[in-house]
Amino acid sequence: MILCSTNDPRNRATFREAVDRGIAEDGGLYVPVSLTPFTPGELAGWKGMSLQETAFAVSRRFLGDEISPAPLRRIVEESMTFPIPLRRLEEDTSVLELFHGPTLAFKDVGARFMARTVAYFHRGDDREVDVLVATSGDTGSAVAQGFYGVKGVRVVLLYPSGKVSKIQEQQMTTIGGNVTALEVQGTFDDCQRLVKQALTDGEVKKHRRLSSANSINIARLMPQMFYYFHAGLQVGVSPVFSVPSGNLGNLTAGVLAHAMGLPVRKFIAACNVNDVLPEYLRHGSFRPRPSVQTIANAMDVGNPSNFARLMAIYGRSREKMAAEIGGFSCTDGQTRETIRAVYRKLGYVLDPHGAIAYRAWKHEQGMRGQGIVIATAHPAKFAEVYDDGMAAGITIPPRLQACLERQKQSVRISSQFDDFKSFLIHHT
Ligand SMILES: *Cc1c(COP(=O)(O)O)cnc(C)c1O
Repeated sequence: MILCSTNDPRNRATFREAVDRGIAEDGGLYVPVSLTPFTPGELAGWKGMSLQETAFAVSRRFLGDEISPAPLRRIVEESMTFPIPLRRLEEDTSVLELFHGPTLAFKDVGARFMARTVAYFHRGDDREVDVLVATSGDTGSAVAQGFYGVKGVRVVLLYPSGKVSKIQEQQMTTIGGNVTALEVQGTFDDCQRLVKQALTDGEVKKHRRLSSANSINIARLMPQMFYYFHAGLQVGVSPVFSVPSGNLGNLTAGVLAHAMGLPVRKFIAACNVNDVLPEYLRHGSFRPRPSVQTIANAMDVGNPSNFARLMAIYGRSREKMAAEIGGFSCTDGQTRETIRAVYRKLGYVLDPHGAIAYRAWKHEQGMRGQGIVIATAHPAKFAEVYDDGMAAGITIPPRLQACLERQKQSVRISSQFDDFKSFLIHHT
């Protein structure tokens, strides 16, 4: 598939080039130059297909000209190793549970697929690749888990000491194998700076082959289309997808799935008080601002990077975008109220991110039909949000329990570049 930069459509790349570069040389993000939608006839044949089969069918459209069927099938099968169930909650509402992967959040889907795609493209190289990841919490462990055990890759995670939650730290520091966690005496910004500096440092590059697993990589976005197709085709009618949104990657994947032929009535960008996109949809002005901390913290984004992709897809027209995407935002108080109300009424525990999507679907004016509420994280990751009665109703998945009990292993470094550089060159 040929992709182009959101900054200049003349800057093109193959899928492999886009995966390797992450971001286009002009600073833009990669989007498909054109899409060939699946016909209704083709999609009719997908109804009873498993998630893996659906994933394979979708990925062939994107990668069929660069990866032959057998290895592509292997990549899909090794990525999609956990269920993504669609649970009927009410007559008109289902929840798509995206949180049954290794780190109990939906980023596992993109991270696992990207890891295997990168490994496949570099299968002939003899030098090991260092994948550098600066993280403020969740993304790091999803990416590290994604690359865990992948041959020819060493993952180096950098996280700010004392600034991530206990669960997040345990998830990052107990993986072992080819994953090393660096506990940086500094902030998340320091971690990002160290990674950026390493990627352009001549001396480090003499010794190691470096890559970064950036969240805007097309290989993380594309696999998120799999579950839209799989869930959307299960309900039988054009559903409304309510999507917990931060950096807008999940929403963009849904919009692309729709452009590829998936019937969708509407999307809702469900946000916390960091509501830059809903504001744009209302007023037509895009005003990034510093993010505000909330209990749905994976959505605390003040300058969503995938906005550039949405703009490119909708031809920079607010009207076109607003015709397909509704905006919604709510406060922490409203999120907590929704969590309690759904539990009382239905006995179902939503995590804060999923709760915002549920509330958005229920509050969106004039929406009828079938709603698919996307739940992006397992409630067990947010114990502090629930009162004792509800907390007792949450089963902690065995995988999380085991990770909480394991001994933390991290390498402490300062925020000085020389320290990081010496780790990369000498610690192998
Ligand atoms: C990253 C994340 C989101 C936001 O997804 P975007 O693709 O950044 O919009 C929502 N919920 C959870 C749990 C996440 O980890």
